[in-house]
Amino acid sequence: MLKEQDKIFTNLNGKETPLLEGAKKRGSWQKTKELLDLGSEKIIEEVKKSGLRGRGGAGFSTGLKWSFMPKNTSKAYLVVNADESEPGTCKDRDISRYEPHKLLEGILLAGRAISASVAYIYIRGEFYNEYLVLKKALEEAYKENLIGKNACKSGYDLDVFIHRGAGAYICGEETAQLESIEGKKGFPRMKPPFPAGVGLFGYPTTINNVETIAMVPDILNRGGEWFASLGKPNNTGTKVFCISGHVNNPCNVEEELGISLRELIEKYAGGVRGGWDNLLAVIPGGSSVPLIPKSICDTIEMDFDSLRAAQSGLGTAAVIVMDKSTDIIAAIERLSHFYMHESCGQCTPCREGTGWMWRIMRRMVAGNIKPGEVDKLLDLTTQIEGHTICALGDAAAWPVQGLIRHFRHIIEERIVT
Ligand code: NAD
Ligand code: SF4
Repeated sequence: MLKEQDKIFTNLNGKETPLLEGAKKRGSWQKTKELLDLGSEKIIEEVKKSGLRGRGGAGFSTGLKWSFMPKNTSKAYLVVNADESEPGTCKDRDISRYEPHKLLEGILLAGRAISASVAYIYIRGEFYNEYLVLKKALEEAYKENLIGKNACKSGYDLDVFIHRGAGAYICGEETAQLESIEGKKGFPRMKPPFPAGVGLFGYPTTINNVETIAMVPDILNRGGEWFASLGKPNNTGTKVFCISGHVNNPCNVEEELGISLRELIEKYAGGVRGGWDNLLAVIPGGSSVPLIPKSICDTIEMDFDSLRAAQSGLGTAAVIVMDKSTDIIAAIERLSHFYMHESCGQCTPCREGTGWMWRIMRRMVAGNIKPGEVDKLLDLTTQIEGHTICALGDAAAWPVQGLIRHFRHIIEERIVT
């Protein structure tokens, strides 16, 4: 269990003020000038040492991503992805509204690491109150010269702007987000080139998730080795888990990576409604990763590698718990509808495939399919997976694959002959 002194987000429950006075008492902005003075290379080295992997869902090494940024560029940007829209996920929301100064200090340090002169926080449009808190915190930081010209008297200049989204899930995809900031329709771009090569307005850009950036001040203050001593090898540090669904006490909680799913649910979320034996399945990382049935939930550890080995993923660490009262086919059909609705329509496998999948899924809920259609649906998911511009196609295919992999018997029992 994570010790109190190893927690990064000590105000995750929002009991104290999120604003500067409270944030300083919680340790923010204490040694920022010294940390900025370390310079780009040392900051990146320390973050690499920590083993920090992106907390937005993909788990890509943060230090490595920063090191892709060219050294001799006339301009570079940092974009902080606060467009949190993954079903079941509400951690960036709480970090933004309860720990905005952790995020702002992290932005300054990350900006220094990649030599950015401007940073954008792209915040989900529906997060209006969170936007107001962030805006207030940013005003405080400017007023105290923590951000802006000669930030913290370090000689480094960084301007930060908050950009509000307008309700499209796809604008959380990093390249669609760049298009959106540029004032265009949120269409994902082909990668490569990756944003580190060609990003915002054509300049090198790093895009990081809110939680990732908000962890940086603690990593630099306490040292990469401290962070790496938490969690497991290759899965280091702490993580904010969002636990929802059929539990007694839905919550956000920070714990070490590698904690067992059962411990997480029973210790923090009051257990599964009706007890552990009433569990049917869990989606462990937001709607884009395949569900896992109870037999796997009994022993699984919550980290990138363990969940990947179980043919699922840590994703955003949004744990959606479903007890035995759940119509599991209907639950996944609802997700299929979501992805069909949110597809931007640029590529055929996603545009046509998500609708096709949903129409089969809708009939499947009623048992109105022919026996061969389960395999046809599975084949359809493989025609989408890996054949699209962005990860939304994969994200639409994987929940359906997980359903068929683990609950084929329920689908087949329901077929009305
Ligand atoms: P990705 O694996 O394609 O990329 C991860 C990051 O690494 C990106 O920033 C990318 O630019 C960078 N990268 C990867 N390879 C690189 C290379 N060779 N050179 C330079 N940079 C490289 O994943 P993604 O499409 O960014 O994210 C998918 C994940 O997003 C899913 O796993 C899902 O869990 C998550 N997701 C999160 C939300 C949310 O609300 N937080 C919503 C939807 C999906
Ligand atoms: Fe758009 Fe879907 Fe293609 Fe992504 S995979 S670019 S959402 S059509």
